[in-house]
Amino acid sequence: MSKRDYYEVLGVERSAGDDELKKAYRRLAMKYHPDRNPDDDEAMERFKEAKEAYEVLSDAQKRAAYDQFGHAGLGGAGAGAGGFGGGGFGDIFEDIFGDIFGGGRGRERAYRGADLQYNLDLTLEEAVFGTEVKIRVPTVVTCQTCDGSGARPGTHAEQCATCGGVGQVRIQQGFFSVQQPCPHCRGTGKIIPEPCPDCHGEGRVRETNVLSVNVPAGVDTGDRIRLAGKGETGPQNGPPGDLYVQIRVKEHKIFTREGENLYCEVPIDFVTAALGGDIEVPTLGGRARLKIPAETQTNRLFRVRGKGIKPVRGGAEGDLICRVIVETPINLTKTQRELLAQFQDTLKGSEDRHSPQAHSWLDGVKGFFEDLKSWLQ
Ligand SMILES: [Zn+2]
Ligand SMILES: [Zn+2]
Repeated sequence: MSKRDYYEVLGVERSAGDDELKKAYRRLAMKYHPDRNPDDDEAMERFKEAKEAYEVLSDAQKRAAYDQFGHAGLGGAGAGAGGFGGGGFGDIFEDIFGDIFGGGRGRERAYRGADLQYNLDLTLEEAVFGTEVKIRVPTVVTCQTCDGSGARPGTHAEQCATCGGVGQVRIQQGFFSVQQPCPHCRGTGKIIPEPCPDCHGEGRVRETNVLSVNVPAGVDTGDRIRLAGKGETGPQNGPPGDLYVQIRVKEHKIFTREGENLYCEVPIDFVTAALGGDIEVPTLGGRARLKIPAETQTNRLFRVRGKGIKPVRGGAEGDLICRVIVETPINLTKTQRELLAQFQDTLKGSEDRHSPQAHSWLDGVKGFFEDLKSWLQ
């Protein structure tokens, strides 16, 4: 691929001055910046091309070499696409756009506060129906004594003499000049001669925030609720971070949840299982009726439509799925035992017909012993 002429890339005359170059580059970079053109390879190429052209032409030494010898004058090292400096497009971009996005030289540098995470344990009912809870979050807030300035009341922070309040210093590394946070003021651009006694110059103090959180209906373990601006305050009155409330749903005595469905086990007596009947099953909101057909086996699943969970992200309500467990009766009276014995007599000779699982199980056992016998011989 043959490289385009750098002046052509920026759309300027060969005699263009520094301001003209900067203006041209800024216009192109704004237009083709990857943040504005996500997944656009063409824009990315244009952006890299403009960046490379500007990096060369804004450097007097490299520009002279380029004017005289073209791309060859720069050698292999510097001329590859996006190859300069190795720092991605962060450094020079910030350099040139600092005054647009940040407010100019000597501005008060503000850093965003940290995000916080809070683990919120909910009962299944709270998660399914939604709730409002008060939480106490240890955080960092603006110091009231100094109003976040970090300076003792009545005194002021002073501009850092080393960096002139910019917070960054340039150091020369071979051909390149590199920006670094100012070591004197540690990038803040300010020096506090008399720190505030309460926050020791930090401008922030630890405190416990009491917040009210609205939990929408249908949340589940792993969901997060973001409370914008409820994280830590940034240093020097910087904007606050966010608070993320991480949802964890506690185990329930009766129900387990899978997606929007609820599961539960329902014990039924063996007569109902054999003859069929209507039973009542619990739901999270109350009760529902469930029809048990005759000759129902244990572990059979029944679906009660619409008695599950309405998902927080919308969509249809899930179902309640009941697993019936057939119970053996206990505490039988003499009469009851006699009746069962009579019943058992009626089964004689046709047990297989009435016990579907025992039948296939017995076949399995028979096969097992026959295999064993032939194996032993
Ligand atoms: Zn303070
Ligand atoms: Zn400084």
